[in-house]
Order: sequence, then structure tokens, then C-alpha cells
Amino acid sequence: MSKVADPQKSDLMEKIVSLCKRRGFIFPSSEIYGGLGSAWDYGPLGAELKRNVKSAWWSTVVHQRDDMVGLDASILMHPKTWEASGHVNNFNDVLVDCRRCNSRFRIDHLKDGKCPSCGVKDFTDGRAFNLMFKTHYGAVEDGNVTYLRPETAQGIFVNFKNVLDTTHRKLPFGIAQIGKAFRNEVTAGNFTFRMREFEQMEVEYFTTKDQAADCHQRWIQERLQWYLNLGVRKENLQLRKHADDELAHYAAACTDIEYNFPFGWSELEGIANRTDYDLKQHAQFSGKDLQYQDLTTGEKFYPYVIEPSGGVDRATLAFLVDAYHEEVVKDQTRVVLKFSKQLAPVKVAVLPLLKKNDGIVTLAKRIKNDLQKEFVCVYDDTAAIGKLYRRQDEVGTFYCVTVDVQSLEDGQVTVRDRDTMAQERIAVDRLKGYLREKLAL
Ligand code: ATP
Repeated sequence: MSKVADPQKSDLMEKIVSLCKRRGFIFPSSEIYGGLGSAWDYGPLGAELKRNVKSAWWSTVVHQRDDMVGLDASILMHPKTWEASGHVNNFNDVLVDCRRCNSRFRIDHLKDGKCPSCGVKDFTDGRAFNLMFKTHYGAVEDGNVTYLRPETAQGIFVNFKNVLDTTHRKLPFGIAQIGKAFRNEVTAGNFTFRMREFEQMEVEYFTTKDQAADCHQRWIQERLQWYLNLGVRKENLQLRKHADDELAHYAAACTDIEYNFPFGWSELEGIANRTDYDLKQHAQFSGKDLQYQDLTTGEKFYPYVIEPSGGVDRATLAFLVDAYHEEVVKDQTRVVLKFSKQLAPVKVAVLPLLKKNDGIVTLAKRIKNDLQKEFVCVYDDTAAIGKLYRRQDEVGTFYCVTVDVQSLEDGQVTVRDRDTMAQERIAVDRLKGYLREKLAL
């Protein structure tokens, strides 16, 4: 839950929102019509950044493990799914209105029972509000009701048997999925932290009841390490174990990974021990046998499930906030996004020093053409070199390659490092190998 920020930190949030808009990371959705509450669009650089976040996750939790497979289930599912999962009956926020100032709040967001707007303790009775977006499928509006999925997890549970039958996996193993989820959140805000349409990256890891607690602890550590490996500063991450009265009724334990956002410590990802609840529920509602059979002992049982469930958008926002640095260089403020190599949306910028010199332009374009087969590159000749460097620093481009008059004579270009600002002359025919080495993970 978000807390009130100190002024310096809210200033930081404003700077990030404005940088995101100005440089094409994140725009308000349908902005020309005045925007839509809690919906945001990723611009050219944001789309690259978000793709990098997703592929870093997929690589770590699927490709680099022996016990995981992927899935891409549909957003629209049989409506019974949501009865079985408990979402039709239980996926509610309880809302209260302040009688004094008419502000509306989630009851679990109130501290000391006081109105966060006016401080008075005088609320209406709580009203439950289901967070699922209802929709109709097929040509006839009446009757054919379903929902936009509020989480990707259920797509994994309903496919448990399909995956098992086609991959012949033995416990423990897991299924990973990245995809859109929709929640008609009642309290929105804090930029992309809480949206009504967002993306989740979820794992359902199936194991035995005996192994579940250990397995839960391992996943907590592995997921924490993922954020650290991608460059998030250690002091900005913390684990928060849920108290017993906070746990969902089916969960045996849950720990959140929280990030120190400018608006306070808030959940990035939750790692829950969901017991055998989901598979049992779907077995009951579908009438299908969803048990796992141990082929050596012949024993049949419902596996326990460990669920690391993270948000792509929240992770992307945390990476942006964590990367944001201001430094004073020669009496001027340099804004630099210090993204890790894996996440930087652009790896190399090719900059011709003189845009009217045909030789320089031809060489610069040839270099860009060659490099872009391997790295995400941009070409920019629309300002003087100092300004071009600042522009690239501000979006986190790892290296700038500058082509100048001398390059035409000695076949070398200047390579500038984003973080140290150190410059090196590198022969054009060695450039690709040099960058490959520097940008290797
Ligand atoms: P919160 O308490 O903040 O509403 P939650 O506990 O309901 O979150 P989960 O149901 O555990 O969230 O969802 C798993 C993950 O999905 C969250 O950790 C978060 O990263 C992401 N997520 C959930 N709701 C949203 C949202 N409205 N906008 C963006 N990301 C979200």
C-alpha cells in the first residue's frame, strides 16, 4: 500500500513522469481525448524497455531452468473458471465514503480509521465492489457473460493436465506465463503502479505438500535475486511476510517483494504458497480428475503450488526509478538513466559530428546499418554533439559512437561510455567485436 511521500521524493516522481512523456517511454492512454484513468501507453522507448523486462524474466524463469515450461493462454476463459477460482464471489474491494469530504477509499487503505483527505472519522458502511471487468461473448448479449481475466494464474491451472500430458513432467515443475490482466481498480493512481489493464508475469510451481515450505523460501530468494541482478539497488528492496490475518483463505504463506518507490514501500511481486486449493477447485467445478500420479509409487494426489506473481509494469517502473540519476558535470546537471545492459532500451547511438559532410554521413550510416543487426541502435544528427550525448544519457543508451573528420583518415571512431563518460578511439573494423564484448551479459 502506498504511503504519503516526502516532497523531495514526490518531486522525483514528477521528474520521472515528465521524462517518460518527453522522451517517449510512457504516454497517457488516448491522450487526445483527455486520457483514460489509470491507463497508460508505452511509447517507442517504453516498448523496448518493457520487452527487455519480459525477456529477462522469461530467460531466467523458463530458459535457464530445467524444471519450467511456458504457456500463453487466452484472456477470455470459460466463466466457470472464475466461479471455481473464487473471483466471482470474493474478488472484491470494500469501499467507504467519507461523509465529511465525500472522498472514497478502500477500507484496507485507511490508517487509524481516519479519512486520509480530511482526517475525520465518519464513513458510510462498506460496500463490496467486484474488480472484474464483465463482458459478453458471441453475438447475443444476454446470457453469454464472461470476464476479462483478473490474473493470468487461472489460465495455468486449467491447463495443468494438458501440460502434464504433453510434456510428461515429474514433480517438482512449473509453468510460466506473461500476459495482460484487467482489474477495475477503485483507487487508481501512482502512474503505472496501479492500472486497470496491466501485465503480469506469473509462475505456478507444482510440488509436494512436504516440499512446499522449502520451495516457497527458495522462490522468494530467487525472485529477489532477479531484481538485484538487473541492477536494482539492494537498499531499495525488502521482503515483507504477510501476517496470518492478511493471508487469502487458501494460502499457507505469502511474502511480498517491496520496492522503495518515491510514494513509499510498495508491492512489486507476491510469492505465495497456495496449497492445493486451485487444482481441487477446478477439479470440483469441471468434474475432471486433475490429480498428479507418481508413476513409481502409483500414488495420486493434488500437488501444492508456489506462486511467484509479479507485475511487468510495476517492475518496469521500479527499474526506471532506480535507474534515474542526476549528476553535476561541469556545473551542469546531467540526467542519466543507468539501466543494466540487459534492460537499456537502446544499446548504441551512432552520431555523425557534421551532418553536412557526405563522407562522415556515409560512414556513420554504414556503421549503424552494420551494428543494428546485433544491437538496438539509433542514429541522431539533429543537434550538436554535447546535446546529442545528453539526450542519449537521459534515456540510458549504453554507448555513443561518434564519427568525425578524423575517422575518414584513420578509420577510427570515438566510443563514449554512458556511466564513466570516458571516450576511446576504436577502429571501425573492430567496433562490432568491441561492443559485443562490452555488452555481453
Ligand atoms: P495490490 O495490493 O497492490 O492491489 P495485489 O496484492 O492485489 O496488489 P496480486 O493479486 O498479488 O496483487 O497480483 C500480483 C502482481 O500483479 C502484483 O504484485 C503487481 O505487481 C501486479 N499488479 C496487481 N494489480 C496491479 C495493477 N492494478 N496495476 C499494475 N500491476 C498490478
